[in-house]
Amino acid sequence: MEDHNQPVDLSKAIIHPLPDERLQKQGITMEVLRLDRIHPVVSGNKWFKLKYHLQEAIQQHKKGIITFGGAWSNHLVATAFACQQAGLACMGIVRGEELPTATLQDARRYGMQLQFVPHHYQYEQEHADYLVVPMGGQNNLGVAGAAEILQSIDRSSYTHIACAMGTGTMMAGLVKASDPHQQVLGISSLKLPAGNNTLHDLVVQQGTNFNICYDYHFGGYARKTNELISFMNDLYTRHQLPTDFVYTGKLLFGLFHMASKGYFGGGSRILVIHSGGLQGNRSLPPGTLTFL
Ligand SMILES: *Cc1c(COP(=O)(O)O)cnc(C)c1O
Repeated sequence: MEDHNQPVDLSKAIIHPLPDERLQKQGITMEVLRLDRIHPVVSGNKWFKLKYHLQEAIQQHKKGIITFGGAWSNHLVATAFACQQAGLACMGIVRGEELPTATLQDARRYGMQLQFVPHHYQYEQEHADYLVVPMGGQNNLGVAGAAEILQSIDRSSYTHIACAMGTGTMMAGLVKASDPHQQVLGISSLKLPAGNNTLHDLVVQQGTNFNICYDYHFGGYARKTNELISFMNDLYTRHQLPTDFVYTGKLLFGLFHMASKGYFGGGSRILVIHSGGLQGNRSLPPGTLTFL
């Protein structure tokens, strides 16, 4: 990848139209808000979700931030970069053994101090001069930041706003920022047991104009199938749209599949949030994807 130290550039978040015969047949327009383009590593929604956490740390005169994630975590590396830009120290608590992943190397390069802990470790606050940011930035500050994703564009003409879901924080922000006539559609990247309402309960606090689909997790978080990988490669060939296999690949697969089943009415205009995460594709064996 190119220069990892360049600043985040929000003006690169263009709208990318997908003129696709499979959608045109159904009378559907789909456009992608390319938040993945704002930075090669710190892409997408994490930058937005962190904004108010950083402000909070500065206001409370904290030395830095402590947060959590796995060895390929988009959140960890984004936090490392954002703290560096804000002049804050940061510590990353990583569950599991120390793996020299490209993600952790980047996080370190941005100045994050990493601490490796056992899988079931419960973090107790030991550093009063650090602000603890939950995984995924999941709280009101994260939701408020995510709501600003829609600020830079004219969203009024869209009937649907679609996004991937991990913790659901981004989606809660999108519901908060959307108009009541728009449906915000979330595709869960996690396999959740039937009757689990965690995502729903978080999002419904911001409004009721949403729907969550649980059918496109491909076996669970960070799991994948050949069908998913083929879809992602094909999407890139057709539209030069790179996706990541953890979140946005599943999102786009789900949307095309739902479209083929008639979920969207004719005349629907769908805005898809490309939330980034492409750095995580570095965990795949070389050659899996035709792009990177
Ligand atoms: C973290 C992440 C998400 C999930 O965001 P939540 O707010 O936790 O639901 C979606 N897409 C990408 C690319 C991410 O990195």
